[in-house]
Amino acid sequence: MADDRHFLRLEVVSPDGPVFEGDVAMVVVPALRGEMGILPRHAPTVAQLSVGEMRVKTLDDTWMSFAVAEGFVKVQFDKVIVLADASESAGKIDPARAEEALARAQERLAMLKAGTVPEDDDVDAFRESMAIRRAKNRLKVVHKG
Ligand code: ATP
Repeated sequence: MADDRHFLRLEVVSPDGPVFEGDVAMVVVPALRGEMGILPRHAPTVAQLSVGEMRVKTLDDTWMSFAVAEGFVKVQFDKVIVLADASESAGKIDPARAEEALARAQERLAMLKAGTVPEDDDVDAFRESMAIRRAKNRLKVVHKG
C-alpha cells in the first residue's frame, strides 16, 4: 500500500561517476530557493541546485553530509536523483585542496580587480567567484563532519 512506504532511493551522480546510491529516510538538498527537505511520498519535482550542503538521513537515523556544486534534483516515485557538477561526501573532501583552490581563486580575482592579470592569462570573474563558493562550501561541510 502506498502509505507503507518509508524510505527513498537516493542516487547522487557527478560527471566523475556515482557518488552515492542507497535507501535513505530523508534528503535535504540545497535548492536554488533554499533548502528543500524530501521525505517518502514527496510530490514529483525537478529543482535546480546551488552550491551547498546536502544532508542525508540514513535508515538508522544518522546524518551524512555531502558538498554539492550546481545541478538538479529529480524526485519521482520515492526515487531521488541528484545530478551535480561535483559532489563529495564529507569524508572524501580534501580540506588542503579546498584551501588551495580558495586562495588561488581569491588571488586571481584580486589580480583582475587590480588590473594585473598577465596578458596571456585567462581570468574570468564569474568562474573565480564560483570556484570560491565551491571551496568555501567544501570547507564548511568538511569542518562540520
Ligand atoms: P580544484 O581547483 O581543487 O580542482 P574545483 O572547485 O575547480 O577545485 P571542481 O571542478 O568543483 O573542482 O571538481 C573537480 C573534481 O574534483 C570533482 O570530481 C570534485 O569532486 C573533485 N574535488 C574538487 N575539490 C575537491 C576537494 N577539496 N576534495 C575532494 N575532491 C575534490
